[in-house]
Amino acid sequence: MRVYKPDAKWHEMVSGGYIPQAGNAVEYDVSGWRTDRPVRDDECCIDCLFCWVYCPDNAIFCKDGSVVGQSIDLVHCKGCGICAAVCPKDCIEMVPESELSGDDNE
Ligand code: SF4
Ligand code: SF4
Repeated sequence: MRVYKPDAKWHEMVSGGYIPQAGNAVEYDVSGWRTDRPVRDDECCIDCLFCWVYCPDNAIFCKDGSVVGQSIDLVHCKGCGICAAVCPKDCIEMVPESELSGDDNE
């Protein structure tokens, strides 16, 4: 492993990796990373869209200013819990995947 001094310049460092095609993250299924799944209570949601704004994986489904459908894209949600942390109404609960049935993992 190469170690750099704190004052090293970026152009002196070895590249960490390349992204050859912009937008390719949509092709990656990261559902296997998740240990806890966000489960949203539709009844208490006020459509503030904080969860949509803060989700780092764009995994909250929204349309016309409202959270819609199953609301979470489980293929691209990695279970970070940010949506649950920012929800002002505590509508999103992070539930361990081990407590959910296999069918719910689809
Ligand atoms: S747990 Fe993280 S990745 Fe999944 S929907 Fe919430 S903010 Fe997005
Ligand atoms: S942050 Fe909470 S209240 Fe706001 S849209 Fe998301 S689930 Fe609904």
